[in-house]
Amino acid sequence: MPVKYVLRSSSDRRDFDASEFVLTSPASKGKCALAALVLATGVGFGVALWQVATEQRPNVILIVVDTLRADHLSAYGYERRTSPVLDAFAAENLHFDFAIATAPWTAPSVASIFTGLYPAAHGVNRHVEAEDRAVVSLKAAALSEGFLTLAEAVKANGYRTAGITGNAWVADDLGFAQGFDEFSTLDYQPAVDINRRAFRTLDALAEQDDPFLLYVHYMDPHTPYRPPKSHPQRFTEPLLRPVVASQRERIDLYDAEIHYLDSQIGLFFDRLRELDLYKDAVIVVVSDHGEQFKEHGNKGHGHNAYHYQLHVPLFLKAGGLRGRVRELVSIADIYPTLLELTSTEPESVVEGVSLLSDSIAKRDGVFSEVTRGVNHKAFTRSDGKKLILGFDAKRGAIVADGQESRVVGLFDLHEDYFESRSMEDSSLLDEMRRGFYETYRDSVELGLSAQPEEAELDEQTIKRLKNLGYLE
Ligand SMILES: [Zn+2]
Repeated sequence: MPVKYVLRSSSDRRDFDASEFVLTSPASKGKCALAALVLATGVGFGVALWQVATEQRPNVILIVVDTLRADHLSAYGYERRTSPVLDAFAAENLHFDFAIATAPWTAPSVASIFTGLYPAAHGVNRHVEAEDRAVVSLKAAALSEGFLTLAEAVKANGYRTAGITGNAWVADDLGFAQGFDEFSTLDYQPAVDINRRAFRTLDALAEQDDPFLLYVHYMDPHTPYRPPKSHPQRFTEPLLRPVVASQRERIDLYDAEIHYLDSQIGLFFDRLRELDLYKDAVIVVVSDHGEQFKEHGNKGHGHNAYHYQLHVPLFLKAGGLRGRVRELVSIADIYPTLLELTSTEPESVVEGVSLLSDSIAKRDGVFSEVTRGVNHKAFTRSDGKKLILGFDAKRGAIVADGQESRVVGLFDLHEDYFESRSMEDSSLLDEMRRGFYETYRDSVELGLSAQPEEAELDEQTIKRLKNLGYLE
């Protein structure tokens, strides 16, 4: 079955009382609380939220935390209490258990959040850090002007738009500022500095009558792991899971960064409350990708498509809804969700599905890829089965049907979260391969309408990327 998701028009929605949609009961593995609810009431989940959204255009705050792997948050069952603020936020709102990034590094992932498309479609995944790092240090794939970004879409609906990011990949010269009235790419800075800037922006936005979209991108869990002096420098609570011994210290520091970041998100929420903006705001908290501590050899991120680099936290505050959603979702789903919540008419085709729609329970799977040095493509299915295929990186990011590939791994994430052993199951492999190509083919086709652009990086962006450890 071809998997191409086109936003539904609002005309086929029915009225419904949103107050009935409070998800609180945990669902069994592989089953969706949301789907169960839909069965019980006979009414689609998306209907309720759409009803709320048509009555108002809420302020929207999109918080992206760089490099935050889901299983290191206490909200996701981590044995260390790294995220008390987000734990509470998760309990009061929608908490997505099984959210998958479209790529294990910033540029393609954020491009997916901003467009609702997979990397094969938006193209911010090609010819970056290929064979010759020196050449790539000057050029990178940019987000094409041809896409209608989230900021552009809501701006056309009367929103004011502002973005503050500490990640150099998310830069104006790489096309990420499209649609923002104000956009600041800062040097890698601790959250306290990002917050200082964000608070000034919030003060100004709060004085306007128009609704706003504010995108804030924190960097703390990204290397170097150096929590500010004012905060505990490392986590000392014991770890119950097995870790690579040489990585223990790095993990302690990484967890301390998460704890610090979490406290700063708490201050950000406090500021929203002081300005009386918290209660009615739609708030998304998500990460662009995870991090690896030498499981499967590598450390850092951007090298492969294993689960710890792709499984990200995702929380949504909207319309008083709460509950744990165990259904598979993609970070590409954020775009149609926010369009729906802001009553913004969808003007472009997207691959994401609204997180508030029962369609998320129906799709076959989601897609992720990495084309930096390697060319790995992953297809994750709603039942937890996942296939990673490796292609020849020298032949380019886009692969043709029938192009030679090797099986990097075939996993059952529900049984084997850390992907410790690849399954030998030829019929499942065939099925997964078919599922992968069906999704991937559509994605590539969608991308052909907007050619990827290549941007010359300016000196400041190059300097910032070097500081992040990306370029030599
Ligand atoms: Zn990142």
